[in-house]
Amino acid sequence: MKTLSPAITGLILVLAASPPNARAWESKDEKPTLCVGNYQTEAEAVLQLKRMAATYSNLEEWKARAAKIRRQILVGAKLDPLPERTPLNSIVRNKRSYKGYTVEAAAFEARPGYLVYGNLYRPLDRKGPHAGILCPHGHARGRDGGRLRSEQQHRCATLARMGAVVFSYDMVGFGDSEHFGWNHTHPQALTLQTWSSIRAIDFLQSLPDVDDDRIGVTGCSGGGTQTFLLTAVDDRVKVAVPVVMVSAHFFGGCHCESGMPIHKTALLETNNVEIAALCAPRPLKLISVGGDWTKNTPKVEYPYIRNIFSYYDKASQVEYSHFPDEGHGYQLSKRQAMYPFMVKHLKLDSEGVLDTKTGVYDETGNVIEEVDLMRTFDNDNPLPKHALKPGSLIQF
Ligand SMILES: [Zn+2]
Repeated sequence: MKTLSPAITGLILVLAASPPNARAWESKDEKPTLCVGNYQTEAEAVLQLKRMAATYSNLEEWKARAAKIRRQILVGAKLDPLPERTPLNSIVRNKRSYKGYTVEAAAFEARPGYLVYGNLYRPLDRKGPHAGILCPHGHARGRDGGRLRSEQQHRCATLARMGAVVFSYDMVGFGDSEHFGWNHTHPQALTLQTWSSIRAIDFLQSLPDVDDDRIGVTGCSGGGTQTFLLTAVDDRVKVAVPVVMVSAHFFGGCHCESGMPIHKTALLETNNVEIAALCAPRPLKLISVGGDWTKNTPKVEYPYIRNIFSYYDKASQVEYSHFPDEGHGYQLSKRQAMYPFMVKHLKLDSEGVLDTKTGVYDETGNVIEEVDLMRTFDNDNPLPKHALKPGSLIQF
């Protein structure tokens, strides 16, 4: 056997001692670049899309590129290899019954002792199995921020009334996560939220009344980022509706969206348009507005993604609804644009919710709950004793 030089032996020892997640960038030349917020201008974004489009010209070449993008997301998010699936120890309780649906407290452990808090909305008096839909939320704050917002409650309740089991869950440091002392500045936010979304599918699929083959996800703004990141890395998602977030020039301004090197390394440059396109050929709907970074969707982002779907002969599976006079958020108009897409592709039943004459999905029967009622744990139902202390670094 040849003798290795001390330098090479040292390098091998360093690599062998490194955790698996650190192996992607082994030289300075491969150091990644963070693309944060408005990392590039709209004109630069168009040029970048051209550069990226020049790297493939058929389905086989796109699939090869898609695999590289998927891997870069997982490596950048420190989820490569994917962590072990530890016991969820899920908790579902405190059922409230309303007209056509129920709401329960729901929580599970994404990692041992690391809890994901949320609410489970279920159809009432409908025969299952039901479609399952994840509803991550954006960065809106306040006592009723995040999953506690009335807009989010309406979205979940309406989907449940049409036959879906819906899980609405906190970002790190929002809702109950904030209530129990966690802060959104947690350095692992992107890793934790992406892994929590993957485990949220595990949670939905662990429920006896959920059809494993009908899983959807929809969220707005930061929840839109979670929507397309989850869809990109987990093919159990069958339908995705990211709202006001897919943009060629804007990469997300929070460290939970762009604080880790998922977009640009020496090996590959990509952006959120391509990441959203990893949904292909699964149905994808973009919802965009004139008042934020999604203003160019009809002429920039949508055509780029549609071209990728066309390689699969599935161009009709990608749609968009653009609201040129509206601003950021998941208000009623955008929910009305999302509902028919979920009904169509997840085989929901809109009878009793959709007014077929006006085309409006009725939300007036939904009950908007008070924050205290939506908590997952309280004095009567305390946090598990082994719950990790707020701010703990999570072992992967
Ligand atoms: Zn964030």
